[in-house]
Parts: sequence; structure tokens; C-alpha cells
Amino acid sequence: MDQPIDAPTADTVSPTAEAAASCSGGKVKLRVAAAAAGQGELLDRYAADYPVGPHDQPQSMCPAFGSLRVGLRMRRTATLLCGSACCVYGLTFTSHFYGARRSVGYVPFDSESLVTGKLFEDLRDAVHAVAKPEDYDAVVVINLCVPTASGVPLRLLPRTIDGVRIIGIDVPGFGVPTHAEAKDILAGAMLAHARGEVEQGPVAAPRQGRASNPTVTLLGEMFPVDPVTIGRLLEPLGLAAGPVVPTREWRELYAALDCAAVAAIHPFYTASIREFDLAGRRTIGSAPVGRDGTAAWLDAIGSACGVTGDRIAAAKDAAVSAIDAALAGAPIRGRINVSGYEGSELLVARLLIESGAEVKYVGTACPATPWSEPDRQWLDAHGVRVQYRASLEQDLAAMREHGPDLVIGTTPVVQVAKEQGTPALYFTNLISARPLMGAAGAGSLAQVVNTAMANRTRMATMRTFFAGVGQGHAAGVWEDVPRDRPEFRRAQAKAKPKDDGGAIGC
Ligand code: SF4
Repeated sequence: MDQPIDAPTADTVSPTAEAAASCSGGKVKLRVAAAAAGQGELLDRYAADYPVGPHDQPQSMCPAFGSLRVGLRMRRTATLLCGSACCVYGLTFTSHFYGARRSVGYVPFDSESLVTGKLFEDLRDAVHAVAKPEDYDAVVVINLCVPTASGVPLRLLPRTIDGVRIIGIDVPGFGVPTHAEAKDILAGAMLAHARGEVEQGPVAAPRQGRASNPTVTLLGEMFPVDPVTIGRLLEPLGLAAGPVVPTREWRELYAALDCAAVAAIHPFYTASIREFDLAGRRTIGSAPVGRDGTAAWLDAIGSACGVTGDRIAAAKDAAVSAIDAALAGAPIRGRINVSGYEGSELLVARLLIESGAEVKYVGTACPATPWSEPDRQWLDAHGVRVQYRASLEQDLAAMREHGPDLVIGTTPVVQVAKEQGTPALYFTNLISARPLMGAAGAGSLAQVVNTAMANRTRMATMRTFFAGVGQGHAAGVWEDVPRDRPEFRRAQAKAKPKDDGGAIGC
């Protein structure tokens, strides 16, 4: 039988030795080391939950940031990182840049503690020291690349300490493609733990009490107005908006599980949806975005929750006429390319098209899932190419192909667009920070989008102003302009091992 490269034996690979070289090493080596260290099943699950494509390695930030951010946003939750100091430095820096206002715990290691197994003992001590019920409901422990590749066994941590839940997760850059999906890893692990508690007996009620109507749990972080808008759309169906997952508090997990249906507003929460499936809850894809999206979503939610056809039709009529009015009052004219890693890229494109924009390309770092399929079909019918797991190169190629009036994208895409004088908006900061749902979302993009498109002349002026300051290797102001050495790059590219699979993308 052929021996595939990812099926090593413990005799052939020294996990800790391989892992120790991780940050400069290749992801194939790390996967091999992790499998040899007993993490093969975990990596197989991640590969099934988060299938890769051209964008199989983060081209943005370390994926663990997604899990870290979810933990840091929860009340009475402590988060401990275990990984290389440089990774932890970057992750804590980014979390404070995004306003964490909370300490991030760190359990450091060196080669000795990694090799001898002492690191796990240190982790257990740290968890015991932190897990005080007067302070916390939960302690999250996140293994980064090196401890994951070395098989540091978080599953052996206690499930609870004095009632404080201990949630250990592995979030390696070589097994989790994006930070979006890392949010799902923590949310799914918490839902699994909470589901176990529900099965054992009574649990805490939501802080504000239980809703009088059956609820719809909302999957995906969204602008704060959106859950309120969704609640209003659900009201005529006799339903209410439930918690948003990832939740901001442990007890909200019980309320999230106690729903009539789940709305996968962001479509990449595979592990979380598995927990809802196990709890017997049905998940609906797409979202109430724009005229067609809202009508189809109300149909799907209504029928999943057993609402009568008359009632659904009345709810749709009311919602669609308000959305029509909002769209008519905020038209968008121009050609726009959309790309991002939030998971809402397809929804934004739908809204832009219904507002009058011409959209030819949507790139998303997220994978194709059944829950974004209605949006892909709608966009396909409107002449849009949807690229799942889009790489930076694909986003840039689409920009060259379509010559848009505006680019909505990630930082590197926006940077290239601006360099060539094309107006551009950051998806995360400027589009995700606006409502998208129902009538509130229908008019929300026009102002920022139209203002940006009107800036084309200013972009051209800026290009003229900065002409001659240099580009690429010579960018900046120099006394002696640096000399490019393409022959070095060529020689180094030739010398690179072909089967390495690339370095960790951090
Ligand atoms: S992806 Fe990079 S920054 Fe993130 S844990 Fe792995 S090596 Fe560290």
C-alpha cells in the first residue's frame, strides 16, 4: 500500500522536534508532526468542516485571532493562549488594537517543557489558578501551532473546576484556513459543552428572561442594529430573534439551543450547526437582505417553524414594500467588485445589485456551504461570478478584468486599488460596520459607496501628487535608490523544496 505523506508513524517523526521549527517550517511538516502526535482525527475533522481551496492558508491574520476575539468578548470568560511568544505577541497586540480591554493569559513554553510534557502540567496549573467561580463562568485555552503540532493534550484538562467550564481548543494555522472559521471552533466547542449541561438538568435562564414567542437563533457576528431589525421582521410570524452566536455570555448558549430554528446569517459556522443539528434544531441559510433575499428568507423561516402561508405572505408584503422604498431612496450607480473574509460578502453583493450597482465578481475567503447556496444561486442568475476561498491573486485578477468604479475588499486588495487610482473601501471597517438586514440595511450602503465612487478625481490627483516616489523595492524617499535583485529571488525560488506546501502564513 502506498504510504501517503500525511500518514507517518510515531517512529518516523519526532513531533516536538518538527514542531519546534514550526514558524519557519512548512505546513505539510506541521501536519505530519501533528498527526504523529495523535492529532490526526482533529485535523481530519477540520479538513471536513473547513475545506480548503486556492486560499488554503490565511492571507490575512493568524486564524487563532477569531477564537481569541470570541473568548475576549464574552462576559466572565478568561482566555489563555499557549504558543510561541511571537505568535502570542501578535495576537495580543491585535486584540488590544480591536479594543479587547481585558488581559490575555499566556502559558509559555520552552523546548524542555514541550519535549518533557511539562507544558501540559503548566497549563493545568494555570487553569486551576484562573478558574475561580466568583470571577468566571468559563476558561478558554487555545493551543496555537506549535502545541497543536506537538499534541499537547487539552482534552485531558478537567471539564469543569468548581463549576467553571474549561474549554480547550486547538487552532493551528496549518489546519484552520481563516480566522472566521476559528470563531466557529470556539462557538461550536462552547455549544457542545452547553448542550451536555442541558441534557443533564435545568440550566440558567437568559438574563432578560425567556422570550414569549419561539425564537430564531442568529449565527454570525453582525452590526448591533441587525438583530433588532430581524426581530421586527419575525414578529408578524409570531417569532422573535434569539441570541446571536457567538454569544456574549455563557447562559445565552442555553437560550441559543432552545430555539425554534437557526438562521445561518454567516454561512461558515459548520461546527456550531452540527451542535444545533444534534439538539434537533433546523438551520436556514441566507439572510433577510434586500427585497428578494428578505422574501425568500421569511418563506424559509416561516415554513421551518410551521407558520401558516397567509401569515408568511402578510409578513413578506409589509417587509418588501418598506425595503422597496428604502432601495428607491438610496440608489447606487457604478461597477463594484466585492471581496472579503467576513462571510457576508455574498449578502453585501446582493444588496448592492438591488440598489442598482453592477457587480461582476464576489470573492470570499470562506468555503462554499449549503447555507450560502441560495445567495450564490441568486448572484449567478444576476451574472456574478462567486469565488469561494478566493486568494488575493484572484481578487486582483478580477479587478484587472472588470475595471470597477469601486473596489470593496481586504487591506491588500484596497491597497492595490488605491495605488492604481481606483476608489476602494475596506470591507471590515467600512461595510461590516453598517446594517445590512431588512429596510434598515437597504439604504445603508449608498452613502458610503457613492461618496467613495465620487472620489475618483481625488484619487487621480493623489496619484499625480505622489508620482515618482518609487514603487515596490524602491518605494519611499531615498538618497540611493535600492537596487532590485530579481536574480536572487529567482535562485531562491528554484532552491525552495517543491513538496513543502508553503510556510505558515503569519
Ligand atoms: S498561524 Fe502563525 S501566528 Fe498563528 S499560531 Fe501559527 S505560527 Fe503563530
